Amino acid sequence: MNLLDWLPVATAGGLILNAVRLRDRLSGLRRVRPAESARDDYAVITGVGADLHERVRSAAIAHAHRTGAQVLDLVPCDLPVQRVLDLARSVDLGSYARNLAGPGRGAGHAMLVAPGVLSRAASTAGTLAPGEFGAATARLRQYVATAGIVVVPGPAAASADASRRAWLRGLGEPVELILAGTMAAWTLVLAGLLVQPAAGLAALGAYCAVPYIVCAGTALRPRDLHRAALLRPVLTPWTCWRTLRGPRSSWELDRAARLDEARAHYRPELAQGVERFLERPRNDCPWCGSLAVKLHVSCRDIIQAKPGRFRLDRCRDCGHVFQNPRLTVAGLDFYYRDVYDGLGAEAAERVFAGQAFWYRARAAMVAAHTAPGTWLDVGTGHGHFPRTAAAVLPGTVFDGLDLGDGVAEAQRRGWIRRGYQGQFPELVDELAGRYDVISMHHYLEHTRDPFNELDTAVKVLGPGGHLLIEVPDPECVYGRLLRGFWIPWLPPQHQHLFPIENLKRALTARGLEVVAEARRSAQQGPDLPGAVLAALNLLGPDPARPWGPAPGMADHGRRVLALLLAGPLLLIAFGAQYAMRPFVRSHSNAYRILARVAAG
Ligand SMILES: [Zn+2]
Repeated sequence: MNLLDWLPVATAGGLILNAVRLRDRLSGLRRVRPAESARDDYAVITGVGADLHERVRSAAIAHAHRTGAQVLDLVPCDLPVQRVLDLARSVDLGSYARNLAGPGRGAGHAMLVAPGVLSRAASTAGTLAPGEFGAATARLRQYVATAGIVVVPGPAAASADASRRAWLRGLGEPVELILAGTMAAWTLVLAGLLVQPAAGLAALGAYCAVPYIVCAGTALRPRDLHRAALLRPVLTPWTCWRTLRGPRSSWELDRAARLDEARAHYRPELAQGVERFLERPRNDCPWCGSLAVKLHVSCRDIIQAKPGRFRLDRCRDCGHVFQNPRLTVAGLDFYYRDVYDGLGAEAAERVFAGQAFWYRARAAMVAAHTAPGTWLDVGTGHGHFPRTAAAVLPGTVFDGLDLGDGVAEAQRRGWIRRGYQGQFPELVDELAGRYDVISMHHYLEHTRDPFNELDTAVKVLGPGGHLLIEVPDPECVYGRLLRGFWIPWLPPQHQHLFPIENLKRALTARGLEVVAEARRSAQQGPDLPGAVLAALNLLGPDPARPWGPAPGMADHGRRVLALLLAGPLLLIAFGAQYAMRPFVRSHSNAYRILARVAAG
């Protein structure tokens, strides 16, 4: 047998393993117990055509009171197969209650919301269209401490594939990537039939068995289970097509209007060219003053694909890496716009929501050394870290500081007690003496003057205070290997990247003592798959981006090509990253340091 002959066998194995994984994610789903609630205080949101019987509603409210869930999604037991698969892909019931930083998930049938939550989130009850229901599902969970998902008796609304796109977009899910993944699996099954018909049939059987495996032993009995399973090879392309061509919801139309508005803003700016956003290059190292400065990496904007080329120089004496020439303040404003806020807010939310593991590891490092009363998170973004860390350190009060307006939203959600919007060094007098811990996670490398930030932290903390810093590691071997495609260079946002010894010396020089450091547990996702995504994003950037040229057929073609390549290339990249582990000694792409200001 040659290598290709193994394709159907590997496909069948992969399909079954993935189905078992999806089943495990749903295994925590429980049926609501028949009960009467004495209270009728929860607001109800329903999808179009969903019918929520009075007795079911009462039982669900009783369940919400019993479990303390302030938002409770009601999943009809006969939910169609496609929606079951979407649910399993988007939520792990086992960690849903614990992952406080994550967005809400559900089935789009009906949802109960505790009193007061709707007004705080500026949302409304009643019947919502799929796109709006998706957006409300994702958002409301962020305004409460406890949320749940429970199975109720059907029937599910007769939801056509046509509403799926609006629903997924409302949730903030990457619809194109999901469809690309679905079609990649389908293509593998078909290709298997062609190269090895006998084994290919086994892969086809596994493909049809997926819905049965996912639902086995769960509380769900999709009404279209047999049809959806047996006809799956035929239905999949049809479902994908219907999802892609589905009507646009008012939520999507609103986004389209925001894109048009942004285009009108960007156009005159781009007409003036982007070279004006760069200062004059310097010839010395901003860290140590040495003149031995050399080009290290030249790169482009791998996240947004905004126009412009950037270079990072490296000091041969101290190893410091810095943007040279650096961006002007107007340039920073141009390149940061719509990354974390505005048009990029949903994508940023998705990235931050997936980092609970690191949030807990950071909080745990501090918890091992001190029990802080107050903690200021500098560069807090939308407050995802404080939200998760509060569960590790229940006795600590968290405040947040950031340049963006995400801090105001974080305060509204109750994720931080107080939000400060502005530059950290400019707020030094207001903040001094108020905090036991200051954290800077992936913040220092974004600043124009890291020394000034460290000085400010020491002044604000005072003797005995702790400073927690996490930054990308410019000495990571993948940084040299992957050049401009290494995500942690993050051009053009990152201004300074410093080797760990440089940072430790800078801390010691300011009277701080390093009490803990970590590399492995600071690793920010695998480097090779990240580089594949960066390269594909430059190959076929989103044609709808308002800072791009008016898209032609070729731009759409490149986008489709990039999406089609994503599945197989990511698989190879994950495999290669794993295989290279023994040969790459210090492969962590970030490090974390905890330091204490010396007492008096
Ligand atoms: Zn230097």
